[in-house]
Amino acid sequence: MAPKLERFVSPGKGNGLRATARIKRGELVYSCEPLACCVSNKLSREVCHHCFTRRETLLRCSQCKTARYCNITCQRQAWSGHKRECKCLRSLLPRIPTDSVRLAARLIFAVLSPSQNSSEELYTLEEHESHLSSVSEQKKQGLSQLASMLELYLQQEAPDLVREMTSLPPSCREPLSLIAKVTCNCFTISDGELQEIGVGLYPSLSLLNHDCRPNCVMVFKGTKLQLRAVRDINPEEELTISYIETLSLTEDGQKQLEDQYHFTCRCQRCDSQDKDGLMLSGGESTWRPLKEALPRLEGLKAESNWQTLLESCSRLLSTVGCDVPEENLYKLRVTDMALDASVHLGHWEEAVGYGEKTLPVYRQYYPDPHPVHGVQLMRVGKLQHYLVHIEDALETFKQAYQIIKVTHGDDHPMTTDLLMKMEECRTEMDQHSSS
Ligand SMILES: [Zn+2]
Ligand SMILES: [Zn+2]
Ligand SMILES: [Zn+2]
Repeated sequence: MAPKLERFVSPGKGNGLRATARIKRGELVYSCEPLACCVSNKLSREVCHHCFTRRETLLRCSQCKTARYCNITCQRQAWSGHKRECKCLRSLLPRIPTDSVRLAARLIFAVLSPSQNSSEELYTLEEHESHLSSVSEQKKQGLSQLASMLELYLQQEAPDLVREMTSLPPSCREPLSLIAKVTCNCFTISDGELQEIGVGLYPSLSLLNHDCRPNCVMVFKGTKLQLRAVRDINPEEELTISYIETLSLTEDGQKQLEDQYHFTCRCQRCDSQDKDGLMLSGGESTWRPLKEALPRLEGLKAESNWQTLLESCSRLLSTVGCDVPEENLYKLRVTDMALDASVHLGHWEEAVGYGEKTLPVYRQYYPDPHPVHGVQLMRVGKLQHYLVHIEDALETFKQAYQIIKVTHGDDHPMTTDLLMKMEECRTEMDQHSSS
């Protein structure tokens, strides 16, 4: 099958990808395995380092005691990619380098390994941006520390590497530049619930430019990245994704893009700032306390202090929050955190109440199908189902399906799971009406 995308120079943006043919909404545009990837350190004990599946019990590599696998099959398949990494990991135990250092090392091993075939990539490692000339002094210091760590980590394998790496261009050999390239171009690999599980490099897709209202989304199936169209796309139209969260004010989004990705977004949405008014609806004096409470609430969430988080959120929402419209961005954030906390505490009735409040707001903010919206609907649907609000659950699952079938495709486990849930609801409704 001919690829539906090609590399081109996008006016004002540099390199980009565009459609070579007409692409329909929901169509799979591109799919690829990473050139290199690794499980996040914080999930190292919960996720298979080969297939990225979450499991209760995993088999541990007896040598580095760090890598973990579903079973012997995953371990065997992972060995060619893990062999050299395993030596490096052992040399630093009990210390484990950060995700970006481990990813950079895996990238080096992948590039040097003759079995790896990366010739089909549209974008070479040499071309990857490092943005080293434009980063702040403080950020550069952080990168230098990572580069030193990378050298230390690779020491065990270094005598060979130095000789082997001479085949690579200097910008890919020099640790600082390599680390900068990796941190600028890596993708966060997430699971079905959109929780981060790892990081990976997908060189061709690093060419995708950002738009605050993109025409494509990325979804993962294990470590495989799938790019799908969320709108109909014409031949020669540029393909875009969003690098940032959809739910952010224009000013905040632009600042994040400048700090993290070193460019100023000039998309249509930034130009019109059309959602800002809605996000800040209600008088400023009414929503200010919610905005100011957010950093503390996020801190509680990061600590998994669910009890205190739920108490704080529910107090805020039942006092100052009463006068703030549901559409307000800060109120939505607090409501979402209340939902998270009540789910963790098993307070299902409370959770469903918060969840249902967010749904009409999500619908307003996500005019195109988006995984975040689909997952939120699915989450609320599961709560309604659990509480035997069967008709509500079926309705919510149906809405989720309209989104998920576009963003994830028909053969994704999320879609299959959703279809099964809908079937369960229908069976339960039949049983109910016949008894
Ligand atoms: Zn596995
Ligand atoms: Zn190992
Ligand atoms: Zn924009």
